[in-house]
Amino acid sequence: MCGIVGYISKNANPESLHLGIEALKRLEYRGYDSAGFAFWDERKREIVSQKAVGKITSLEQKIDPRNSFFANPLILHTRWATHGGVTEKNAHPHCDCKRNIWVVHNGIIENFKILKARLEKEGHKFTSETDTEVIAHLIEKFFDGDLEEAVRKSLGYLEGTYGLAIICRDDPRKIVAARLSSPLLIGLGKDQYLVASDPSAVIAHTRKVVYLEDGEIASISPEKFVIYKEKKPEDIEWSQEQYEKAGYAHFMLKEIMEQPETLEDAMRGRLIIEEGTARLGGLQSVEKKLRQVDKIYLVACGTARHAALVGEYMIEECAGIVTKTDAASEFRYRKPILDRNSVVLAISQSGETADTLAALREAKARGILTLGITNVVGSSQARETDAGVYTRAGPEIAVASTKAFTSQLAVLALFALFLGRQRQLPLTTGESIAKELQRIPALARRILENSAHIRELAKKYQGFENFLYLGRKYNYPIAREGAHKIKETAYVHAEGCRGGEPKHCELALISENFPSICLAPNDSVYDKMISNIEEIKARKGPVIAIATEGNQDIKNLADDVIYVPETIEILAPILNIIPLQLFAYHVAVLRGCEIDFPRNLAKSVTVE
Ligand code: GLU
Repeated sequence: MCGIVGYISKNANPESLHLGIEALKRLEYRGYDSAGFAFWDERKREIVSQKAVGKITSLEQKIDPRNSFFANPLILHTRWATHGGVTEKNAHPHCDCKRNIWVVHNGIIENFKILKARLEKEGHKFTSETDTEVIAHLIEKFFDGDLEEAVRKSLGYLEGTYGLAIICRDDPRKIVAARLSSPLLIGLGKDQYLVASDPSAVIAHTRKVVYLEDGEIASISPEKFVIYKEKKPEDIEWSQEQYEKAGYAHFMLKEIMEQPETLEDAMRGRLIIEEGTARLGGLQSVEKKLRQVDKIYLVACGTARHAALVGEYMIEECAGIVTKTDAASEFRYRKPILDRNSVVLAISQSGETADTLAALREAKARGILTLGITNVVGSSQARETDAGVYTRAGPEIAVASTKAFTSQLAVLALFALFLGRQRQLPLTTGESIAKELQRIPALARRILENSAHIRELAKKYQGFENFLYLGRKYNYPIAREGAHKIKETAYVHAEGCRGGEPKHCELALISENFPSICLAPNDSVYDKMISNIEEIKARKGPVIAIATEGNQDIKNLADDVIYVPETIEILAPILNIIPLQLFAYHVAVLRGCEIDFPRNLAKSVTVE
């Protein structure tokens, strides 16, 4: 959450502010409560700062186009508020009493209240309600001409998490950057350096980046950067085009539509049909250990947790290993029962989700084997786990996760197949799962071709304020994820339940004004699901059924039907979520919601 950009170059550049703003826009998905910048104007020899509530365009509108600025160095921030309201005063950058030291921050300073009280006692005057401002005043306290040294001393006092970029009027030829549990990298451009929370911000200028690690401080001047550790530059995997909307109205729609390709990418080179198994290069080093595993904990948050819930069914069915899904935010605060044959598998699109990383670190501290599934090469999760698998979905920009989710499901299916074949899963069963997996991208394409029908249904149902999503077995997590999608994109209340549960509670809500979306593909729980739909119809609840192509009977029961192609039960979730993503998207568009940037949310959740 929150995006940071820093820029410093060898040559004075009147375009640098524009360049910085464009880079910041690439990070807007990380937070959009307010935005701001501060820079040293080389000609005027002063620090200039501007802030605005709302998205980056509001900040841009405040810049006087008649003024040219030689912003160098420059720091910028787009905020997802944690401490202090969404106001201009609380927008970053924050500065010290003398307006000398300017800080942008991603993360939370947990002990800021104590530090603030002490600093106030010493005479420091605060102007915001944020936790971040203490950092500027602490640095002021230690500053005697050398910014880097003052930052180093200050960091020792901070508890919590931070990605920081700092500039200073009295030491103006550098940016000091530091990281603890919030991602930060340095992009190495031609005669210029950028600092950013993730690669999307620097890709237009360079593909060479150095990722900062926890506890590291970098001092970046126009000529060189120094990190207190020798580091080899790495290549960014993704291309600039992948960060564009490619003609779609929204990133969310583009990402939904990309799923046939991203599913193919998730499986490319990983299926060995004749052996009925999967080869996952990232797990090779732990293959032997995995034979001994007798318990798997899946830890994840939000949409990734719904993928984990599907993974739980897949692994137990294919491999017979006890598998449990836990919300990463809870994992380390209770007493998970782990022994040396347990594995913790973390799932996070960004690989930077703070709660998930905290759960991983807890597992590591207890000496447990840690694995990860993530989309981002070089992310904290990828670096901290013992082994893992990349989902290869390409950059996901929309806050509402779609393609990353289906890729997580595909990777979990491969993992379950691999574990199964290490154990009791017969070759023929493995072979048929592997063969069916190969068909999934083409089946996903068929659903997307049907998207006009889903848009029509969205028109019909857009006025409802409540929805119940129902599914059984493999489709229960899909009901949860369907509800999650419509909540976060269309701001409509929805609940995702197991098909058998409403009779214990939710049926009390059902009426003509409370539609249900029922996942009823041809599977082992189809008849039970039909009974559950009957129960809703008996209470006059409108029903949209998600059913298998060719099922004519269900038309007599449901008000509307969305058909999906037939596949095997274990893989059905990968297909069944796609119409629910499209439905949420179209309802949100019709309701005039901010599709890619839902209110109060942000992506890459780097706070606990
Ligand atoms: N805790 C800081 C604030 O609320 C930074 C939040 C962020 O990471 O955007 O201002």
